[in-house]
Amino acid sequence: MDGAGKTLLHVCCGPCASACVPRMRAEGRAPVLFFANSNLDTEAEWRRRFAAARRLAEAEGVALEAAPYDHAEWLRAVAAGHEDDPEKGERCARCFCHNLGQAAAFAAANGFDGFTTSLTVSPHKPTPAVFAAGRAAGAGFVEIDFKKHGGFPESVRRAAELGLYRQNYCGCEFSRRASIAARAAAVPGVREIARYMRMGAAAPEGELLKRVEALRAEAAAVWAPRCAFARFPREAVSGWESPDLAKHLEGCGAVYLACATLGAPFDAFARKASALSGADALIAQAIGAAGVERRLDAAEDEIRMELAADETTAPRYSPGYGDLPLSANGAVLDMLDAPRRIGVSLTESLQLAPSKSVAAVIGVRKAENVI
Ligand code: SF4
Repeated sequence: MDGAGKTLLHVCCGPCASACVPRMRAEGRAPVLFFANSNLDTEAEWRRRFAAARRLAEAEGVALEAAPYDHAEWLRAVAAGHEDDPEKGERCARCFCHNLGQAAAFAAANGFDGFTTSLTVSPHKPTPAVFAAGRAAGAGFVEIDFKKHGGFPESVRRAAELGLYRQNYCGCEFSRRASIAARAAAVPGVREIARYMRMGAAAPEGELLKRVEALRAEAAAVWAPRCAFARFPREAVSGWESPDLAKHLEGCGAVYLACATLGAPFDAFARKASALSGADALIAQAIGAAGVERRLDAAEDEIRMELAADETTAPRYSPGYGDLPLSANGAVLDMLDAPRRIGVSLTESLQLAPSKSVAAVIGVRKAENVI
């Protein structure tokens, strides 16, 4: 490729790069996209993000090049000995150097005027650290702070406009685990609670908003979600006599059983709120429902990290759905040893206790398309 008169843009992901291309053009540069991200934890994730970069390249009418994906080499060269570093720490500085080193080498080999990176768009990426890595990577690094002039909000707007895949973790397995743990532990936000209050996309206002915020703060003081899950052969649930579940698990070779709970302290909080008013009861129930579903969502993310590269999950299915009887809750608890592990047991009416607890079956099937 002839890079004369052009600037190579290292692309960390499509959404970030979507704010960079117009800005570079406005500054008189002709960008060529360069996708170099061996930091991504799986090849499937690499393909998803590369597809977003390709969609952006097509929308903007610019060329797209890519470095080969080699995560094993990234783990050896970048992450070894830095697995427990926090985000924005030494591992990330090494990661920037690794990817920008590939961009520098590609720019030099193809006669580009210079190279830069979309990494500075993200508020999670300190610009001085990115610039230091760019300067160390090779000659010709162009220091552009894409955060400036509203770069990040513009990337959110443009990515939504183009329908680009937007990830919820930085890229490596270490960041993915940290992101899952943070989501698993967080109290649901006001809008999430409002959805469980059946308010749809509307946000609470006025006095209702004050009550949601007040009860959310009280719930945060007792917030301690817990979850247990384990993988079993598909046959482990074959005797549950539920045609609906059998249909749901068609094509699955294994299942995960999972149980999440907000624990007894949350039940006490919800009882107290319910004694105050009907509105407070509704809000407390919504906080609990949103919270326990959020914990199960995080468990599903953890499960996906355990899967083989050619496996994917089916949507989860809980006792009480379709013809799957509530008595299946008991089987899930027994198989997970949930009373001992997370303090969840079954009442005489086959409900889970504490009350804000959910059990689920998650099928595992071969992925038809890893993208
Ligand atoms: S958290 Fe992000 S920047 Fe840091 S090492 Fe992982 S992939 Fe690289």
